[in-house]
Amino acid sequence: THFGFREVPPDEKESLVAGVFHSVATRYDVMNDLMSMGVHRLWKRFAIELSAVRRGHQVLDIAGGTGDLAKQFARRVGDNGRVVLADINESMLRVGRDRLVNDGLAGNIEYVQANAECLPFPDNTFDCITIAFGLRNVTDKPAALASMCRVLKPGGRLLVLEFSKTRNPLLTKVYDTYSFNLLPVMGKLIANDSESYKYLAESIRKHPDQDTLERMMKDAGFVNTTYHNMTGGIVALHKGVKP
Ligand code: SAM
Repeated sequence: THFGFREVPPDEKESLVAGVFHSVATRYDVMNDLMSMGVHRLWKRFAIELSAVRRGHQVLDIAGGTGDLAKQFARRVGDNGRVVLADINESMLRVGRDRLVNDGLAGNIEYVQANAECLPFPDNTFDCITIAFGLRNVTDKPAALASMCRVLKPGGRLLVLEFSKTRNPLLTKVYDTYSFNLLPVMGKLIANDSESYKYLAESIRKHPDQDTLERMMKDAGFVNTTYHNMTGGIVALHKGVKP
C-alpha cells in the first residue's frame, strides 16, 4: 500500500505508525545517521543543553525510541535522579533498552510503553519532558501536549524537537527534493523499506509550522513559550514551561 501519499483516518494512523516503527526498529540508528548525515546528533545536543536537566532531576523522554536523549539525561541526573524512556512501540523500546544496558547505563532508567496522548504518570511528576521527532507521529497532538503539561511539575519544562518549516525558498526546494525523492530511495536501498521513508517525508510535510506549534503549546497550558530554528528551520526546538 502506498500509505505515504493518502489521507489516513486517525485510528488507521495509529496502526500505520506502529507498523513503520516495528519495521525500522533494528536499523533505526544507522538510518538516522545516514539520512540526517549525522546532524541529528547536533540537534539533540542542543535540546540537551536547553533542557537545564541536572543532578537529581526526574526526566521523561516521550517517543524516546532507541534512547539517544535518555542516555545523555541518565548521565546528567545521576543516581538520585530518574529517567523514564517512554514509547508506544515495543520494538523501539526493546532496541533502546538493549542499547542502554550495553552502554552500562541501566541503573536510573525506566522503560514504559505508553501513548503520549494519555501518559500513565501522576500529576506534577517530572522536572523536564522531551519529545524528539515524535510529536508529528502522534494523532491527537492537543491531547498529548495537555497530558505532558499535567505530568510536569509547576516550573518544569517541555522541549519539543521536531522537523519544521524552512522559509528560504531555495533551501525548501533542495530539502523537498531530498525528502521526497532521495529519502525513499535510500530507505529502499539500505533498509529495503521505501514505504516507511515515504511516510517519514509525508509526516514532516504535514506537521504544523513553528508558530502553529507554539500556539498549540500555549493552548495546552504552557507559558514562556519560545522556539529556536536549526538548519534553516528544517528542525525547530520549542520550549514551554508549566505555570
Ligand atoms: N526520540 C527518538 C529519536 O529522536 O531518535 C525516536 C524518534 S522516532 C522518529 C519516533 C518515535 O515515536 C518512535 O519510536 C515511535 O514508536 C514513537 N511514537 C509514535 N507515536 C507515539 C505515541 N502516540 N506515543 C508515544 N510514542 C510514539
